[in-house]
Amino acid sequence: MAKPTGFMEYERVLPQDRPVAQRVEDWKEFHSAFGAEEESRSQAARCMDCGTPFCHSGLLYEGAVSGCPIHNLIPEWNDLAYRGLWLEALARLRLTNNFPEFTGRVCPAPCEGACTLGSIPKPAVAIKHNEVTIIDRGWEEKRMQPSMPASRTLKRVAVVGSGPSGLACADQLNQAGHEVTVYERADRVGGLLTYGIPNMKLDKKIVARRVDLMAAEGVRFVTGVEVGGENGRAKGTKVSAKELLAKHDAVILACGSTRPRDLAIEGRDLGGIHFAVDYLAANTKSLLDSDHADGAFISAEGRDVVIIGGGDTGTDCVGTAVRQGAKSVTQLEIMGRSPDTRAPGNPWPEWPRTFKTDYGQEEATALFGTDPRIFQVTAERFLGGAEGRVSGVVVVDVEWKRDAKGRPAPQEVPGSERTLSAGLVLIAMGFLGPERGLLEAFGVEADERGNAKAAYGSFATAAPGVFAAGDMRRGQSLVVWAIAEGRGAAREVDRYLMGSTRLP
Ligand code: FAD
Repeated sequence: MAKPTGFMEYERVLPQDRPVAQRVEDWKEFHSAFGAEEESRSQAARCMDCGTPFCHSGLLYEGAVSGCPIHNLIPEWNDLAYRGLWLEALARLRLTNNFPEFTGRVCPAPCEGACTLGSIPKPAVAIKHNEVTIIDRGWEEKRMQPSMPASRTLKRVAVVGSGPSGLACADQLNQAGHEVTVYERADRVGGLLTYGIPNMKLDKKIVARRVDLMAAEGVRFVTGVEVGGENGRAKGTKVSAKELLAKHDAVILACGSTRPRDLAIEGRDLGGIHFAVDYLAANTKSLLDSDHADGAFISAEGRDVVIIGGGDTGTDCVGTAVRQGAKSVTQLEIMGRSPDTRAPGNPWPEWPRTFKTDYGQEEATALFGTDPRIFQVTAERFLGGAEGRVSGVVVVDVEWKRDAKGRPAPQEVPGSERTLSAGLVLIAMGFLGPERGLLEAFGVEADERGNAKAAYGSFATAAPGVFAAGDMRRGQSLVVWAIAEGRGAAREVDRYLMGSTRLP
């Protein structure tokens, strides 16, 4: 029984993030935990057994998705946390989520957008904070110990790609008793958990700790290996699709959506213009390898930085550039500013498409005095300076009007052209799907969006014994969706190998 007066008694209160002036001086996580247990318990108590917990439904609402895609048993573990039954809460949390320490840090929390309190409306239960409190406590109290499957099936499975979908899939299949090897082309495991999301949002020790646990449970990790390299981007050691298929009973492709959307405008070939993930990955690798002593990263120090793309990847570039000592940071967004409160066409329990200020914008605002974002603007061309390096970006304002087919389209505002000074430009305009060579190597078709063709729910491609999951199948998405896909693919691979499955 949940606390009957929960949210009526307690307001939503979260621990303060570390102060901006302090946190931009380092690469440590900016989130803080509550000091006193009582504070966490009162936040969990706000969840009041609402009857129909939209938070854990992940429901399809006229085509839209709302709530938690992995159906976390949120009201149950909130209640257990409120009662101080932390071990029981941990067990409940682990039933549906392989990696709560990742989602508890980086998930935008669709569960909170769907929280029933939103119907009143009142501030949502602090579900994400409660999640990270439960799992971090579990690690601190050494509850997270290797757990071996009771028996082995002797079936061999290859998971290609070690992002959250590949890791979740490997974890599930290992627990089902299969011999799982994860092949990763990068030098470290984790996919975008390691080489996308910056350290200040998700400390890489948190990722490595989980990978070590999985290794202790029997999952094999092979890094620095490009699978399907016969057609893919030749890098390091290669393993052909044929070789992999011959050695394993099933293969799961979880290689992410790695082709960045480019901006083919005049001056694109100038120096100092990079894709966001290349910039973020190099920064994290240099941090982990040498605490930046090797200088093997793209530096924003002393430069005017222009980031093209107003999404989360762009935000991570803002946070990284301010820590590197950028002179100024500007983030361009072609869409208009979202409203401060839900628009009439965006009711609860849908994800609220409202104006949000994330950590990077908060930091840039504190350091430079203004929000770095400019809305309804697009880059027209890049200007070159000395030694073929970018020196500016010519931008124009846009207005969104309906085209001849009635679709919204951006139209240039006459006379709005101006030049922004730029010594470093980062393109954060999203991704176009997996690499074609990899799909061809495995004989996997692409769907109409260029992703690996495999139906949601079965995750099987048309190639026998080859499955696809995560951003590679779904398109660029979220860590929590990658975990959902990895778990789903594991269930179907287990069924394929054994004829039936007990995996959830
Ligand atoms: P990925 O994480 O992309 O992993 C794919 C892995 O496959 C990579 O390690 C790659 O090296 C490997 N690989 C590819 N090809 C081969 C090959 N041929 N052989 C061997 N290995 C290969 N989501 C959130 O929920 N919260 C966030 O805060 C957040 N921040 C983000 C920040 C950035 C900068 C980006 C780009 C994305 C962010 N996302 C965030 C989205 C989230 O990271 C992805 O949706 C998620 O990581 C997808 O998981 P995945 O396992 O499908 O693929």
